[in-house]
Amino acid sequence: MSQEQLSRLHALDLELDDLKRRVDAEHQRTVQFRNNLTLRIKDRDQRRECLKTLQVEVRKLELSIEETKTRQHSLEQKILRVVNARELEALTREIAGLKTEIESLEERLLAKYEAVEQHEANLAGKEKTIRDYEGGLVKLAEEVKTRVSSLEEQVSVTATVRGEVAKNVMSDLLSRYEKARERHGGQVLFEVRENGCEGCGLVVPGFEWNRFKQNPGTPYECSNCGRLLVYVGEPS
Ligand SMILES: [Zn+2]
Repeated sequence: MSQEQLSRLHALDLELDDLKRRVDAEHQRTVQFRNNLTLRIKDRDQRRECLKTLQVEVRKLELSIEETKTRQHSLEQKILRVVNARELEALTREIAGLKTEIESLEERLLAKYEAVEQHEANLAGKEKTIRDYEGGLVKLAEEVKTRVSSLEEQVSVTATVRGEVAKNVMSDLLSRYEKARERHGGQVLFEVRENGCEGCGLVVPGFEWNRFKQNPGTPYECSNCGRLLVYVGEPS
């Protein structure tokens, strides 16, 4: 019977919908994983830049400590030759000032060393996570590939069966069905026991409903939404 074949066809179409959704979901898994990895790489790169900046600052501080020490040293040489008391006092003060400056620079340098160490440890952790993710992505891609190819095989088998079943459905019924599918997607064939389209809720006038009831098993088209309804008997 054409109606039974249509039901079969519809079940196959819904199965195909489901298979395609599952294929999409598999691809989506890879996309999400890859996005996550990309975010982590971006974060890691930012951290690397931070570390570079810190290392430049360290180098600058080291240089300025060296320079200050050189100045201190040359003043200490100079002071040995000074006989004028005033000059001696000025140089002593200057040297003391440089010592204080060196101390404060060294303090800052120590803090930078600590910051560099922390950044390096943090970065190492991030690098490891990224390597794990990269390994995970390879594994996931393989897993997804296997699943997708199995799903696609099912799609192809189901589509072949669908093609065979479609041949047994009367062409005008098939075209009404396909139009409804195109328009709404998803379920477009409903078994009904009560007056009312399960797709859009339309209730038909009583005389029309009586006509449907006299032809149980014959699909009729909802005049509002175009979905197909089949009367299957009184509600139990
Ligand atoms: Zn309807």
